[in-house]
Amino acid sequence: ASPEQATETLPAIELAGIYKEFSSHGDVVQAVAGIDLEIGVGEFFSLLGPSGCGKTTTMRMIAGFEEPTRGEVKLYGKSVLGVPPNKRDVNMVFQSYALFPHMSVFENVAFGLRRKGVAKDEVTKRVGEIIETVGLAGREKRRPRELSGGQQQRVALARALVNRPRALLLDEPLGALDLKLRQAMQVELKRIQREVGITFIYVTHDQGEALTMSDRIAVMNEGRVEQLGSPRAIYERPATRFVAGFIGTSNLLSGDVKSASGDRAVILSGDGQHIEVPLREGLSAAIGSPVELTVRPEKIDLTLDAAGAASCRLRGTVTEVVYLGTSTNYNVLTSTGAEMTVFVQNSNNADDVAARGQDVWLSWEPEHSYAIGAQ
Ligand code: ATP
Repeated sequence: ASPEQATETLPAIELAGIYKEFSSHGDVVQAVAGIDLEIGVGEFFSLLGPSGCGKTTTMRMIAGFEEPTRGEVKLYGKSVLGVPPNKRDVNMVFQSYALFPHMSVFENVAFGLRRKGVAKDEVTKRVGEIIETVGLAGREKRRPRELSGGQQQRVALARALVNRPRALLLDEPLGALDLKLRQAMQVELKRIQREVGITFIYVTHDQGEALTMSDRIAVMNEGRVEQLGSPRAIYERPATRFVAGFIGTSNLLSGDVKSASGDRAVILSGDGQHIEVPLREGLSAAIGSPVELTVRPEKIDLTLDAAGAASCRLRGTVTEVVYLGTSTNYNVLTSTGAEMTVFVQNSNNADDVAARGQDVWLSWEPEHSYAIGAQ
């Protein structure tokens, strides 16, 4: 293979055993506590987690604004420890767009190329192309203040992309936009990323945003990666209680392993009912070990009688009914003592399936639930 091809098969970014400690007023803050990650070339990769979990610090170590206390950062197989940000071939886009207010859209985007001494024709061509890609054609002469928030974000994006970095780091870039615009920009960002084919590393605390755009997501908590996987894997098979709770809405039922064979176990729930479900890989299936069963609200059927109900089933009483347009949200107090949430899709003109105070059956297919370790 030529050296060129060999480079392309390497991960774009590798983090190995990364720790970052800050000392602040005599205390040591462990911002990142042991991260190992490989991000592929051309991947849309998100770091997702609550405020303070270490997302920004991780990103800043990739960009070179921080050096790890311990561990290795590699870009395309080469260590970049000690390499300053402007020599790393990555670009960062911030929530505050930091555009030059007195310059036009074109000049803002052209600025970096001009400073590098790129020839005039080449600047015109590349700036024109990227302005087209981000959907700002026809607005080249405008000043930032004559643009909407979403358009300003596109200029910031174009300004970073025009340098053709090998990776683009985006730290909550849509945080300043209102919900509708943010959702539209999510779809746009994904399209732009596909078009330019550059590796995107995206930091967000918004799970919907990460699910919409990412090829893979690292869910972070307290300086560590709790789970790494595709949006579907993370949503459907949350590895820990934290992930189950942080991504979407999840029901958790406590129980003990009653018997196990292969990757399945029978769980004995609080009121003595047996439910057979798949076990998370690597989970101890020792008889009597405490586990938690996760099941998403939209996977549960709510019926008035048990006829035709799926094999995992629980009895309960409706405590709350909330109509939400496309779906209705039911809270049900089950006979195990657990409060469960069920989302029922609303079909045309149908009445509510059940009313507050009514006794119901909740049931779901075993493969829609999943036993994880109790914490
Ligand atoms: P947010 O979503 O709120 O930006 P985050 O997940 O990006 O949060 P970081 O900004 O990486 O989290 O911060 C992780 C932890 O490290 C926090 O407890 C933060 O207070 C601390 N921290 C970050 N930078 C510094 C610093 N320069 N000095 C001291 N502590 C810091």
